[in-house]
Amino acid sequence: MPNWLKKRADLSPNREALIFEGHTYTFLEVFEKASSYVGKIGTLGLGKGKTAAVLFSNQAESVFILYALQMAGIKAVILNNRLTSEELSWQLGDSDADVLVYESRFDDKVSSISSEVNFISTDKLKQLEDGDSVFLEEYDMDDVTTIMYTSGTTGNPKGVMQTYGNHWWSANASALNLGLHDYDKWLCTVPIFHISGYSILMRSQIYGMPVILHSTFEEKKVVEDIRKYQVTVMSVVSTMLSRVLVELGTRKLPDSFRCMLLGGGPAPLPLLESCIDKGIPVFQTYGMTETSSQFATLSPEYSIERLGSAGKALFPNLIRIVDSDGQDVPLGAEGEILVKGPNVTYGYLNRPDVTADKIRNKWLHTGDIGYLDSEGFLYVLDRRSDLIISGGENIYPAEIEGVLLSYPGVADAGVIGAPDEKWQQVPVAFIVKSDSGVSEEALLALCEEKLAKYKLPKKFYFVESLPRNAAKKLLRRKLREWLEAEGDGNGH
Ligand code: ATP
Ligand code: MG
Repeated sequence: MPNWLKKRADLSPNREALIFEGHTYTFLEVFEKASSYVGKIGTLGLGKGKTAAVLFSNQAESVFILYALQMAGIKAVILNNRLTSEELSWQLGDSDADVLVYESRFDDKVSSISSEVNFISTDKLKQLEDGDSVFLEEYDMDDVTTIMYTSGTTGNPKGVMQTYGNHWWSANASALNLGLHDYDKWLCTVPIFHISGYSILMRSQIYGMPVILHSTFEEKKVVEDIRKYQVTVMSVVSTMLSRVLVELGTRKLPDSFRCMLLGGGPAPLPLLESCIDKGIPVFQTYGMTETSSQFATLSPEYSIERLGSAGKALFPNLIRIVDSDGQDVPLGAEGEILVKGPNVTYGYLNRPDVTADKIRNKWLHTGDIGYLDSEGFLYVLDRRSDLIISGGENIYPAEIEGVLLSYPGVADAGVIGAPDEKWQQVPVAFIVKSDSGVSEEALLALCEEKLAKYKLPKKFYFVESLPRNAAKKLLRRKLREWLEAEGDGNGH
């Protein structure tokens, strides 16, 4: 295929591409900025086939450099700026990057990184001579353009290799699902180092659609900019959506707003009901770093009727549910979710063993458990590695956590399985209180009302905070370590 950004600048040079802090860049301007960076990167001695790690926040300059790397055929290892220096050192070593380009605001973090890699700040990069701006005229769809590490929820993060083809298909799958209008504008407040944000940039250049980029999520600015720029689509996780609703109060979003793309996890019913009251269309989605963004999506007309469902696989995508022997299970039965499609990665960087284990006959074993209902709607239950099996019954920690979190005065909740002589495993809960009055008895009473007997937590541990990773996902493996230490009498 032709170079995407060059093609876009040729087809619609004067169309708005990027709006950041009040400044609007057209596609021609973005292409020129990115081309200039291609030259500067060339001056550093980097070109096609090399690997550059980047440590960026949501800034216009970050977007230009990301486009430059893609145009130059340099693989970009896009690092999460919330990671610690130690975690960054590990990912830099694992990815074998030739250089680390970092924003000066991360100076402190970078100075504590232990790695052989060469560093350059974006301020220094900007001052370099342009040199020859050698960019690819054509993209090979099978070439890797980005490497993104998974969140590390179930173990060490893995570097997912994403090809031009993966991003192309992801952008197309999304358009075939949500539709595409010439007045569309996408608001990006999610991080561009994560696939949720980066995929918005890919859609922008492929569709010729403006992106309104925010450096951080601020609900007041979100509501203001949706009105000011007539935003039509926004990507959110459920905490963001709740904050937007609170900010809106009795106001509504403009009629032109047509889609809240909600990812990361199932949404609570009251949140979806408030969105219906306010006429905000919510599309719930299931996806992961390995699928280069959205994989399945539920349209708003089903959001109450199929509460908690992540919908159906997008047009180019396939889903299967299998048992532990890899055999397909009937509709309605639970099993591991397998996914296949042109937006799915072909493997993990430098991890042939994990790749061979996770991807078999082009089907990616997601490690998530779920089921398809009688009409083929997907329900995601939990991670396979966190499943609790108690006396032969499957228990999903997420379900119990949902009940505990609904109790006022519970700020956070985590559930894992504890070894048990009689039942092999029983659920136990870790609770962070926001109100010191919350008692074990009250929580148990709520669980008894909402959950089957075998799902009731056998013990409650009241703690100061729960272990979460840089993506704010709960690390149940750390809770299991805490519990083991507790058993050894070491406490935590
Ligand atoms: P790691 O693979 O390192 O353990 P991770 O899986 O958390 O980390 P991501 O790729 O950021 O890394 O997250 C994808 C995961 O998020 C999915 O596999 C799934 O477990 C969860 N997820 C995404 N969407 C949904 C959803 N709609 N409902 C429930 N879970 C979801
Ligand atoms: Mg994962």
